[in-house]
Amino acid sequence: MDFAYSPKVQALRERVIAFMDAYVYPAEAIFEQQVAEGDRWQPTAIMEELKFKAQAEGLWNLFLPESELGAGLTNLQYAPLAEIMGRSMLGSEPFNCSAPDTGNMEVLVRYATGQQKQQWLEPLLRGEIRSAFAMTEPEVASSDATNMAARAVRDGDEWVINGRKWWTSGACDPRCKILIFMGMSHPDNARHQQHSMILVPVETPGVNIVRPLPVFGYDDAPHGHAEVQFNNVRVPYENVLLGEGRGFEIAQGRLGPGRIHHCMRSIGMAERALELMCQRSLQRTAFGKPLARLGGNIDKIADSRMEIDMARLLTLKAAYMMDTVGNKVAKSEIAQIKVVAPNVALKVIDRAIQIHGGAGVSQDFPLAYMYAMQRTLRLADGPDEVHRAAVGKFELAKYAQAAP
Ligand SMILES: Cc1cc2nc3c(=O)[nH]c(=O)nc-3n(C[C@H](O)[C@H](O)[C@H](O)COP(=O)(O)OP(=O)(O)OC[C@H]3O[C@@H](n4cnc5c(N)ncnc54)[C@H](O)[C@@H]3O)c2cc1C
Repeated sequence: MDFAYSPKVQALRERVIAFMDAYVYPAEAIFEQQVAEGDRWQPTAIMEELKFKAQAEGLWNLFLPESELGAGLTNLQYAPLAEIMGRSMLGSEPFNCSAPDTGNMEVLVRYATGQQKQQWLEPLLRGEIRSAFAMTEPEVASSDATNMAARAVRDGDEWVINGRKWWTSGACDPRCKILIFMGMSHPDNARHQQHSMILVPVETPGVNIVRPLPVFGYDDAPHGHAEVQFNNVRVPYENVLLGEGRGFEIAQGRLGPGRIHHCMRSIGMAERALELMCQRSLQRTAFGKPLARLGGNIDKIADSRMEIDMARLLTLKAAYMMDTVGNKVAKSEIAQIKVVAPNVALKVIDRAIQIHGGAGVSQDFPLAYMYAMQRTLRLADGPDEVHRAAVGKFELAKYAQAAP
């Protein structure tokens, strides 16, 4: 595996870094202020400004491997760019590269009809609307997607949808116009062919955004994580993606690339936390020495550097394998990095908080919010335990035949 950035990636890296320095970091405080001052659930002027600037500079839709619609980058080439974007709490939205839209756009590129692409994918690619993925349900253990109980029943040339979802990230944002709903459509089929994914426009009668769910008290406005009630929601039959009972096939594809983007962003966030840790530990003095020279603090800095570099290499390996041998063969590496990246980021952020003392848990530094964000990734991406179970299963499979 070649670790060097190609000239194209190197040039893009420099441009994304310059854009972050010039516009994104300075906009963080303005974004917070605009959310706090107005209606929290309306888009902010500053984010629209950033999107306009990034699009004008051609730093737009950099994800989307194997499609003419993106920047033509492989997963391996996109990884260092997603890492830089992940450094900011504003995330990747200025570049139209944010979750859950990236995963949803990939699904639409692969499985939507021409008319659906025109209606939903094109405005998503232009950054005019947003989307959400409605799978998880409050009533069932959703780490096992075969448990999903919300119903989609065919009635002539329509689907009738009923059920309750939650943690539908992004659905509180008024720009969110389309949901990818995953529900039980064929209870008599084999276990992995019982569910379908269906496009549900948010404005369809019967779709009710019940409430935003805060994360450790952060509401993530105006994005939000919604509880959504579906009451006799009727959508056209052709809104089913790929085919009836084929929701799992899509989920496996969607949760590959869309999810490894989170890992790349986590590494970026860990890098920023390490940067803050180093600066603070050199600037402040206690007991006659800079904090960096006290106790085991230098070890914490060294451990953070080593762990971030290891996590980055594993992310790149997973991306490289996805590009070269496909998501299916890369399954173990994808599962490994989903456990490693947020856990490493959490350890680094936790050390950075400690070095900052009380300031670390305050709102004056981004560390508390970073910690909350990374902690959710140990669940939002599927719980760690589920990924560990997958890694362990692949490992044991190598020896199963040889066992007595
Ligand atoms: C901030 C945030 C954003 C999210 N965004 C979305 C979204 O946009 N769309 C969406 O559909 N969902 C989303 N989710 C939901 C997320 O995918 C689920 O929370 C997750 O899949 C776990 O499901 P559950 O909450 O029902 O937990 P459960 O399934 O009840 O699991 C609870 C716990 O049981 C344990 N467990 C489960 N399986 C195993 C196992 N095999 N081995 C050992 N222990 C196990 C784990 O400790 C796990 O955390 C989001 C969640 C959060 C917190």
